[in-house]
Amino acid sequence: MARVSNFNAGPAALPLPVLERAQRELLEIQGTGMSIMEHSHRGKAYEGVHDEAIALLRELLGVGDEYHVLFVQGGASQQFAVVPMNFLGAGKSADYLHTGNWSKLAMDEARLFGTVRVAASTEADRFTRVPRADEIDIDAGAAYVHITTNNTIEGTQYHQVPDVKGKPLVADMSSDFLWKPFDVSRYALIYAGAQKNLGPSGVVLVVARKDLVEAGRKDIPKIFQYRTFAAANSLYNTPPTFAIYLVRNVLAWVKESGGPAQIGKWNEEKARLLYAAIDARPDFWRAPVAKDSRSTMNVVWRLPTEALEDAFVKEATKAGLIGLKGHRNVGGIRASIYNAVTVADVKNLVGFMDAFAARNGG
Ligand SMILES: *Cc1c(COP(=O)(O)O)cnc(C)c1O
Repeated sequence: MARVSNFNAGPAALPLPVLERAQRELLEIQGTGMSIMEHSHRGKAYEGVHDEAIALLRELLGVGDEYHVLFVQGGASQQFAVVPMNFLGAGKSADYLHTGNWSKLAMDEARLFGTVRVAASTEADRFTRVPRADEIDIDAGAAYVHITTNNTIEGTQYHQVPDVKGKPLVADMSSDFLWKPFDVSRYALIYAGAQKNLGPSGVVLVVARKDLVEAGRKDIPKIFQYRTFAAANSLYNTPPTFAIYLVRNVLAWVKESGGPAQIGKWNEEKARLLYAAIDARPDFWRAPVAKDSRSTMNVVWRLPTEALEDAFVKEATKAGLIGLKGHRNVGGIRASIYNAVTVADVKNLVGFMDAFAARNGG
């Protein structure tokens, strides 16, 4: 078996021990004579997995009792609509920080339910940075403030939680959730599609303050109310059991690896290695993102020509370095170095980059 170095943006790499555990448990879990996929979501075996996933998450991030931890479906894209559906309405307004492709889609959905106010935008700089503190203008009447903590396509990330003047902060953390320890209490609601840092596609993690959930609208379909999932421990209807099982495996792996602090150290090291390689040859590699907004998860850069970028991706693929083509909206190169990507994977990439640059006059 030859596992590649996988730099896919999402669905993305999963830790090898997570997959090996799933392989060991695939045909039969805990002596029950069947796989977890074949168990009822109301049965003991599945409930054990489900509750363990939630408990692990609470433990790893120190999530307080004032928060619900929920599993929902429909992807982060559905949350773009479900957040304003629950918390906006006629006469209500929410503030959005516009930092790229995903924040735009979130705003487009919110406009269907209320007023969207752009509290800051870095569009004039082609989203090559996140807003500075002094550019963020929070409306005293905002129902909530929405941010995208890591901009997966543009390769930017907040390195400080913006000051939102006490308004409920809603965060799309799909591409940097659990990249290191963080203070959940700064947020009113967090959502994250699992397929970047947490598991496979098919499930979204929501961490939401109980008072906010309670204050949500009741005149929308039950299936879109957070309180429905909260009241039923995310077992209101059939959840994506196998996806949640894999999220459990990922969280157990995070814990065994030394917890979010250790994961964070590896991530800092990976990002440091990769940006150092890019910065070492400024005439060959060009990193468009402002240094203080650089993402530790999605590293984007350009080469002198598109032909060289195509050659880079092609030759990298041959060398077992997969998924390096930039998003079709922005072009160039993108290496997604999520939690499951190892320091060794990044060293492989850096070695390849140095050789490629040397071969091509860099
Ligand atoms: C991937 C991603 C999404 C979209 O996730 P889906 O599960 O495809 O809906 C939304 N926001 C961010 C920041 C992402 O990285």
